[in-house]
Amino acid sequence: MAATMADPAAARHIGPGDGTTESQWARCHRLAAVPAAHMSDLAPAGARVVVVAPHPDDEILAAGGLLALATQIGLPVALVAVTDGCASHPASRLWPPERLAAERPRETLAAFKSLGVQAQNLVRLGLPDGGLTAMETELARQLCDLLRPGDTVATTWQLDGHPDHEATGRAAAHAARTAGARCIEAPVWAWHWARPGDARMPWHRARRLPLPAAIARRKQVAIDAFASQLAPDPSTGAEPVLRATTVARAARPFETFFLPE
Ligand SMILES: [Zn+2]
Repeated sequence: MAATMADPAAARHIGPGDGTTESQWARCHRLAAVPAAHMSDLAPAGARVVVVAPHPDDEILAAGGLLALATQIGLPVALVAVTDGCASHPASRLWPPERLAAERPRETLAAFKSLGVQAQNLVRLGLPDGGLTAMETELARQLCDLLRPGDTVATTWQLDGHPDHEATGRAAAHAARTAGARCIEAPVWAWHWARPGDARMPWHRARRLPLPAAIARRKQVAIDAFASQLAPDPSTGAEPVLRATTVARAARPFETFFLPE
């Protein structure tokens, strides 16, 4: 998720603190009115589900339930980890970049195990955490090579408010169009900065994927795998990267995706 990056030019600003709380979203009529989608609406029978995650943890926050459901019904799943998330703890003595680059991909694997997800294809692109806007063309090119016609690609929303998330969303959408795949986008940071019913969210394209109780529970356990993101950093005084509201959102019994325009 990488909380340290914020685009000062964006109105979709990721401020400090907890942002919009889960109890506020629970009272949001617009979110409650989002139509439910069946798994087959998002990923037709036989489709491969490819999650493109800017940072380790985004694959679970955005689409952990989708991955678990796809696995359960026998669809092939793949993960493209765009960065290793090594910029989540700037100036930290406890979590220097090389430690994060080794640990965060391991956290993803542990989370997958908790969710019962077996990614037959797991590709780490190793692009720079915090630097994806400048790498967008290269990222799109690499994704084009990885995607196949008929894939369902799930990635972060192009207007999510985090520069890496937005660049990944744009690159994945472009690559999906080129490859003959379908791209659905998930808000991650938007739940933090957007207000309930926020007109900046494309509600008309939103669909909610209901998660069976067992999968919702497993998703909560999967989030616990991201230990590097869940504890304060005594070497810098930084708060946990994953905020309490973010962890609370992971307990939702549904995930939200924006369909293509
Ligand atoms: Zn992220």
